[in-house]
Amino acid sequence: MFEAPILDPVRFTALGDVVEGRVPASDCDRLAELLYRPQGEIRYRVTGYRTPDGLPALALHLEGDLELVCQRCLGGLSFPLNVDSAIVMVHDAAALPDLETEAEGVDVIVQPAKVALVDLLEEEILLALPLVPVHAEGMCGAGTGDTPQAMEQKRPFAALERLKTSS
Ligand SMILES: [Zn+2]
Repeated sequence: MFEAPILDPVRFTALGDVVEGRVPASDCDRLAELLYRPQGEIRYRVTGYRTPDGLPALALHLEGDLELVCQRCLGGLSFPLNVDSAIVMVHDAAALPDLETEAEGVDVIVQPAKVALVDLLEEEILLALPLVPVHAEGMCGAGTGDTPQAMEQKRPFAALERLKTSS
């Protein structure tokens, strides 16, 4: 069972601490819902630092092999997770940047008193996943399988068959 460390962000970033570990994908509830099989684990490294402006920040590195659900054929779709991102913490919501000015790969959040590491990691993983995971062209089971989607696509042709046979 994964013991979720709780971080004190101020202390953690001031010390430049590093925490590394592994978390089973099945321990991330929202992530597990998106997986074909709730297997695999995510390796993480979180490093505390200060931005040039003196704001507390966390650098995150996440990697692991996940199996998502293809939205075309509903089959398993392997997804190599490899994320490098940063979380910068500000004191209040007024200091949050507009979405447009937020740098790529950097999230700015209002500094929480404590951070449950697993929540932080899960949030970053969810952001890194494709919105609509689908197999690459030619790799997808849709069209050959008998999933609801594939059957939906075959229906017009079935109707055409009936027309042909009745004439
Ligand atoms: Zn597919």
